Amino acid sequence: MGAVGFNEAEWIWKDGEYIRWHDARVHLLSTAVQFGTSVFEGVRVYETPRGPAAFRLREHVRRLFDSARIYRMLPDYSQDEICAASCETVAKNGLANGYIRPMILRGYGSPGIDPAHSPIETYVATWAWGAYLGDEALAKGVDVCVSSWQRVMPNTIPARAKAGGQYIGAQLMKMEAIANGYVDAIALGPGGLVSEGSGMNLFLVDDGVVITPALDGTSLHGITRTAVIQIARDLGYEVREGPVAREQLYSSDELFFTGTAAEVTPIRSVDRIEIGTGAAGPITLAIQRRFLETVRGQNDDPHGWLTHVQG
Ligand code: PMP
Repeated sequence: MGAVGFNEAEWIWKDGEYIRWHDARVHLLSTAVQFGTSVFEGVRVYETPRGPAAFRLREHVRRLFDSARIYRMLPDYSQDEICAASCETVAKNGLANGYIRPMILRGYGSPGIDPAHSPIETYVATWAWGAYLGDEALAKGVDVCVSSWQRVMPNTIPARAKAGGQYIGAQLMKMEAIANGYVDAIALGPGGLVSEGSGMNLFLVDDGVVITPALDGTSLHGITRTAVIQIARDLGYEVREGPVAREQLYSSDELFFTGTAAEVTPIRSVDRIEIGTGAAGPITLAIQRRFLETVRGQNDDPHGWLTHVQG
């Protein structure tokens, strides 16, 4: 099967060199393939009046290194070098709108569980990519369910690290949701409270207050999440982080996902129960508008979130 839903680029950065897209191969018995031992990031690149710009690149690379540190697989590069490699790869591939996927993995060495003898390899891939859940999703909202799969306990797999193997749980959620006719799913944490989506964070709007589940060790501390909290406050809304019970989803006035891929995606129903009026809500759309203006370089980027990629 070829590439579905995205365009292959020409070059991938690997440990300081550029290799062709189809030469970015790892061995079947690599530790990363056997056991999911990779850490990665997803960063969006937007076309702006000053050329392509990456959204919160430094924060993403910082999180990549935090993930690598947790899994004892820090690379020989600095965070600045990975930021520079990311910008260079975008420029070399001639990308305007797209996605950057920096990745650190344990390669081919030892077939056993101990990854210490498998080399650490560092890659930066980039490709052109549109709206993750589709343009219509951004405008009209999506229909989602509460998953029968839950997030893991904080002391089983670290939710704050973005490691490849962790996403088998997200895949179970996503596949179940699609099989049942939904676009995506919301997961509860092991304590039964709302955690996050399969690959995004979640916000509610209740009586004009913007609410998001607190970071309780069951969800990823999303970089879009903190940007959206800032944007909501900039727009004058009160923002609360705290416990969210499942039934609050159904009774909220508005609901939306945030994430690098999902951006700010309204949710119009959960488990076939309409949220609010069953359409994208006004506060969601105000936040989405400010978010999209900022990432597209249509305002003065007050928080310094854009890194311009020199061609
Ligand atoms: N939760 C999970 C599990 C994710 O994979 C992502 C995507 N990175 C997010 C939340 C959203 O995080 P961010 O805004 O940093 O992309």
